[in-house]
Amino acid sequence: MPYRVKVIREFSAAHFLERYKGRSEPLHGHNYRVEVVLEGEVNDEGYLVDFLEVNSYLKEILPEHRMLNDILGGASTTERLARWIYERVKERFPQVVEVWVWETGKFAASYTERKSITSL
Ligand SMILES: [Zn+2]
Repeated sequence: MPYRVKVIREFSAAHFLERYKGRSEPLHGHNYRVEVVLEGEVNDEGYLVDFLEVNSYLKEILPEHRMLNDILGGASTTERLARWIYERVKERFPQVVEVWVWETGKFAASYTERKSITSL
């Protein structure tokens, strides 16, 4: 599939890790940055997906100002959050190939169903 697009959106949420190095983390928040990568062919009008449609869908599904521990039903790690978002995006945009979630400016995790993937 020759084309890839990326849509980036940010949201804020609270969480804590119930088990982190043998103890529970205090409750805190992050300004998460989500990067959704989609891949495929372009349509007759020359685009793969409508950026605005992906963006407004992300606005609908991202758990803005929510408690991630309640939503993820388990460890509220960045890795598991990336998977949760990926699965929701896939319901509407099956072209999704990877979702990155940045917890801070330096730390990010991604989820993909691909066996291997290069330089997204
Ligand atoms: Zn945290």
